[in-house]
Amino acid sequence: RNMVKHYPIKAGVFQHTVGHVKSVDGVSFNIGRGKTFGLVGESGCGKTTIGRTLLRLTEPTSGEAILNGKDIFKMKKRELKEMRPHVQMIFQDPYSSLDPRMPVGEIIGEAVKEHNIVSKADYRDYVLNIMEDCGLRTYYIDRYPHEFSGGQRQRICIARALALNPSLIVADEPVSALDVSIQAQVINLMRDLQEKRNLSYLFISHDLSVVEYISDVVGVMYLGNLVEMAPKKELFKNPQHPYTKALLSAVPIPDPDVKMKRIILEGDIPSPANPPSGCKFHTRCPYAKPICKEKVPEFKDYGNDHQIACHLMDEK
Ligand code: SF4
Repeated sequence: RNMVKHYPIKAGVFQHTVGHVKSVDGVSFNIGRGKTFGLVGESGCGKTTIGRTLLRLTEPTSGEAILNGKDIFKMKKRELKEMRPHVQMIFQDPYSSLDPRMPVGEIIGEAVKEHNIVSKADYRDYVLNIMEDCGLRTYYIDRYPHEFSGGQRQRICIARALALNPSLIVADEPVSALDVSIQAQVINLMRDLQEKRNLSYLFISHDLSVVEYISDVVGVMYLGNLVEMAPKKELFKNPQHPYTKALLSAVPIPDPDVKMKRIILEGDIPSPANPPSGCKFHTRCPYAKPICKEKVPEFKDYGNDHQIACHLMDEK
């Protein structure tokens, strides 16, 4: 709730703080048990920072992150160590996130040993089981990462995350580095594992079609804030925020009867160190009005669990 992550900007010989990069600027959402929350937006909007901050890989500026009744942001070192197995991360690049000097079995099992998940006697069988669950042949156990394709490496990353029996997995662009033909296999594997293990996912992606496929609820981020959030079907059928509409208009629709006018956004995403006043999207919004420059639109629920931050909504 109200997650904020501001990075100080240092300058000069004495490295004084001269401003802040407002990477995440007050973001709140829930992820249900066994559900997927999809977080979308252009690069630089703060979605990766949210994932990393949830895991305390980077420290929050303020806010709360409640997991099983405990606030991750308030945890001290020992509590954090106990929490680690419950929240795992899968990164975008399956090539650099695996140690090339370690065989697959050790990569998957390293943290299992560290956290004493199973006894020494059961360790190998435990790792083999996880590998099977992730569609990896058991004789891969002694092979090294360079012997595998991108898709198989991402399966190894998923197996490594699963080995600790997490309840939440933060998946940051987990299929963006893979060939399109392999993407579906990895996403389907994630869905199967979710069903089998009642896993929750925070699924971060810039790819709306992938997010549509896997998510239960979707949040759209722009420059450190959520601008729209709704159950998946509602968001994709009835997008309301001009930014969401623009993102959706760029996705090809495989139905010749559905014609969506492409909305081209002018300009780049502004700097989070110096975000525009009022609605941060006003510099690129085709519908901006004078009020948009002055007043920050409230992020409000307009029914059907559909929340939107746009002044136009109050005129409807
Ligand atoms: Fe566009 Fe104004 Fe709505 Fe922002 S508040 S999205 S600038 S219409």
